[in-house]
Amino acid sequence: MSVANPRAFVVGHPIAHSRSPLIHGYWLAAHGIPGSYERLDVPPAAFPDFIRALPDSGFRGGNVTIPHKEAAFALADTLTPRAKAIGAVNTLVVEPDGRIRGDNTDAPGFCAHLDHTLGAAWQARAGGTALVLGAGGAARAIVVGLAERGLRRIWVANRTAARAEAVAALAPGIGAALAWDDLPAALAGTGLLVNTTSLGMKGQPPLAIDLSPLPAEAAVADIVYAPLETELLAAARRRGLAAVDGLGMLLHQAVPGFEAWFGPRPAVTPALRDRIVADLAG
Ligand code: NAP
Repeated sequence: MSVANPRAFVVGHPIAHSRSPLIHGYWLAAHGIPGSYERLDVPPAAFPDFIRALPDSGFRGGNVTIPHKEAAFALADTLTPRAKAIGAVNTLVVEPDGRIRGDNTDAPGFCAHLDHTLGAAWQARAGGTALVLGAGGAARAIVVGLAERGLRRIWVANRTAARAEAVAALAPGIGAALAWDDLPAALAGTGLLVNTTSLGMKGQPPLAIDLSPLPAEAAVADIVYAPLETELLAAARRRGLAAVDGLGMLLHQAVPGFEAWFGPRPAVTPALRDRIVADLAG
């Protein structure tokens, strides 16, 4: 492993949209580290060779994004317990002995953002009940993260019901699937509502859901961050509910990777956030 000029990457296909180079580039400059964080476009057929070549590539590791998170899970030499539980890897670290460790930092990233925006006691809202909409890769990470943080009940509702069952099963004894038609009744007892579907993203229809049954103490989180203020979050604010946007998750999930590849534990600051918000608006 090279000591000078440490290098890390984000690998995906496509990859042009990724904000990770901006985030890590900001931290490298802030810490005065003469390293690099590179954007790599690797198609799925070439991904196994990319991983096999990694120990001799000079990279200390990197981030993995769509569509490689499951393949990275299968190809890593070792997995953190969290990556194992989620079944997907978004962070790779090349160990000094050349072995590749796979981690998933989406779950702690999501929860760290809740800590920062809602304060330490967010888990207790409405008796510790969360309702997660969607059952894709992000939902898997968030359900595991919420279970780790001591939520007492996690409902999962999804357009495709079978996928909701599978994601709820990631939180044994706590998670349960919910039919989409049963949402209004469940919302009345929900302390944290999380949208993990792609609805509300630029170019997608909005997530049409009536928030009026939610209790006044409830918080609403949307992990969509383009746009930053989704219609769901705007509706939550109109009701006077705490609203948590998706950008914080993206920023906080990057912290453990930077620390592993470059050394210092970086801070998620308002100035970094402003930098990414400006880029999203541009
Ligand atoms: P994914 O694995 O493709 O899952 C997409 C989810 O959205 C599935 O549950 C899917 O339901 C649902 N969905 C899609 N179109 C729908 C529609 N028309 N009506 C109802 N449900 C619909 O995607 P993902 O990786 O989990 O990502 C989901 C979203 O989270 C994306 O917007 C992504 O940008 C965002 N994200 C944000 C962060 C962050 O750091 N803030 C991190 C990861 C992801 P079915 O199962 O029925 O298809």
